[in-house]
Amino acid sequence: MKLFWEIHEGLPQQGPGDNENTIKALNIILDKSCFSDLKEINMLDVGCGPGRQTIALAKKLNCKITAVDNHQPFLDEVNKRATENDLANNITVINQSMDSLQLEGQSLDIIWSEGAIYNMGFEKGLKYLKSFLKPEGYIAVSELSWFTDSPENELKQYWNKNYPDMKTIEENIEIIKKTGYSLLESFKLPASSWTDYYNPVEKRIAELRIKYKEDSEALAFFDEYYIEIEMIKKYSSSYGYSFYIMQG
Ligand code: SAH
Repeated sequence: MKLFWEIHEGLPQQGPGDNENTIKALNIILDKSCFSDLKEINMLDVGCGPGRQTIALAKKLNCKITAVDNHQPFLDEVNKRATENDLANNITVINQSMDSLQLEGQSLDIIWSEGAIYNMGFEKGLKYLKSFLKPEGYIAVSELSWFTDSPENELKQYWNKNYPDMKTIEENIEIIKKTGYSLLESFKLPASSWTDYYNPVEKRIAELRIKYKEDSEALAFFDEYYIEIEMIKKYSSSYGYSFYIMQG
């Protein structure tokens, strides 16, 4: 775990995604909704990490956003970015586990979660978060999804081991309906959203390989990690992140 955090802490984002697609997903909600005053929206960002999307959302809406994560260094980074962007009054961070939130039921207009709901499981997470949403509130999540029914063998084996729960977009849409949401729209994140995420990771791993050049266990950890990056470089048409925007 120590090496994992050494790779990840201080990076600008902790999963694939970019501000353009965050705002694209938000606009799907805004087009459908009839909020009379965007500033009055009560929003939750689940698994906010260092807050790339939190800041983008707060800039656009100027509303109150509660950003939850269970890794304090990320929350410290969210606070720092909020201050730098003059958004400290908009963003409140809380250090809680996303599966046991101490929040009021039916209190949120919009729940957001980019690259994080898998920590609860897509279906379980959607069911759980629904209780915090106001009736007919909105939820937008991005989730690793198969883009094909017949992935290449090597790729299938890798993800069967690392995320056996990964579903196709169609299967996730079925889950969305089953859990009582209506789907507004889903769209795939572009392959470039992976490079936004992995380029800083690769740079960090290269630095750490030098630091740990005498440590064979650490080097083996970096090799193993690198397979994840290689997979997306080879197979970005077979899987990736998809955004799902829905209404409760
Ligand atoms: N949304 C961010 C972070 C995605 S990575 C981005 O796109 O950059 C997933 C995040 O979920 C990490 O920040 C991790 O610390 C957080 N996380 C993992 N398990 C969690 C849990 N049980 N409760 C709250 N946060 C959790």
